[in-house]
Amino acid sequence: MTIDDELVAAVRAAVADARSIRRLPIAPPPLVASPKCPRCSLVGICLPDETTALTTAGDERHGDAPAESEATVDGEAAPADRRPRGAVRPLVAPREDRVPLYVQAHGAVIGRDGECLKIRQKDGTTSTARLREVSQVNVFGNVTITTPALQELCQRGIDVGLFGFGGWYYGSVGGFPEKNVLLRVAQFACASDASASLAIARELVIGKILNCRTLLRRNAEQGDDGLLSRLKRLSQLAAKAETSDVLLGLEGTAARAYFEHFAALLSPRTGASLGTFSFASRNRRPPRDPVNALLSFGYALLTKDCKVALQSVGFDPMVGLYHRPRPGKPALALDLMEEFRPLVVDSVVLAAVNTEVVRAEHFVHAAGGCALTEAGRRAFLAAYERRMETEVSHPIFGYSLSYRRVLRIQARLLARTVQGELRRYPSFRTR
Ligand code: SF4
Repeated sequence: MTIDDELVAAVRAAVADARSIRRLPIAPPPLVASPKCPRCSLVGICLPDETTALTTAGDERHGDAPAESEATVDGEAAPADRRPRGAVRPLVAPREDRVPLYVQAHGAVIGRDGECLKIRQKDGTTSTARLREVSQVNVFGNVTITTPALQELCQRGIDVGLFGFGGWYYGSVGGFPEKNVLLRVAQFACASDASASLAIARELVIGKILNCRTLLRRNAEQGDDGLLSRLKRLSQLAAKAETSDVLLGLEGTAARAYFEHFAALLSPRTGASLGTFSFASRNRRPPRDPVNALLSFGYALLTKDCKVALQSVGFDPMVGLYHRPRPGKPALALDLMEEFRPLVVDSVVLAAVNTEVVRAEHFVHAAGGCALTEAGRRAFLAAYERRMETEVSHPIFGYSLSYRRVLRIQARLLARTVQGELRRYPSFRTR
């Protein structure tokens, strides 16, 4: 074959065509108001109504409109204004019927027995969990998993979360990462684009500050209007932050103000404000008092659940858009959990202390630190799981779903934003 100008031009045109195809979205946009969607098994992944609503009717609200205008109704995100004009049909994807398995008995061994996991304790007692009913396995301290059990869990895509005896989250073991390679490519590009990652980081921080404000407003017996106004102002400043350092500073200021008033939410009836559960400020590594021990443990659990949600969508949880990458730090999971810290963990801690689900005897103090006992951890885990299964109305789409499912929806919306399908990440903010 002769290589002439005509052939070179044809090859160049083919290469240009291939490059332009590569730049197209990985899938066509979802159908609009199609009767096929409610019965489609992909509806929970595709989110057709949500995507259409956020990309069309909400353009002026979810586009580049100044965020300050969103925060004008009582300092909040004006949830009614964030709602899309078009009706969003409730998600009909099946509920997650599987539940997380937690194993914390010292010396326990988890093995595989056919379609079940068999947990054998040191004293010889055994219990079983059907593999098809398990969504994740979490082990604390000195717990062993046999290779056949680990292989089966990896094959089924069931994550194994590894926690230290004191509740420190070391990481997870799972199967192969999700196949959505293009999302990870887009994520890495977004993480290295200062302006794109800052735009998402702003939304995460605004969501966190406003959710902290909501928790204070709902739970404080006497509202501190000065503090609420301050948090509102900080959220407005966060919307205009021009660098991630400024954003970090605003978030830190808001967190200090919030935790200074956190003690006021503990019920004096349980002796919480003066006795065992007194709380002065946030401390960690190690937490030095029971409330900080509960907060640290709760954040570790939430990190794990955000990591699972992000991985299920196809993200690399280690590459953050707000938190900078650091060895061993699941930075994107820390990003996603910002808006959920007050809504899930702080709320569980307050409920667990104020309703005496956890009590003084559930803590041990050693080497300047404070940790939960096995019984205390069991009680708190049950409270945390109840919170994750609590149904909440989505502030933008209006339908009800559990917090665990909300994490997945937000992870998918984050993916849509990173891939350029949504112009702005809609953080989860409650009223
Ligand atoms: S939900 Fe199913 S039918 Fe509807 S747009 Fe998505 S893939 Fe298509």
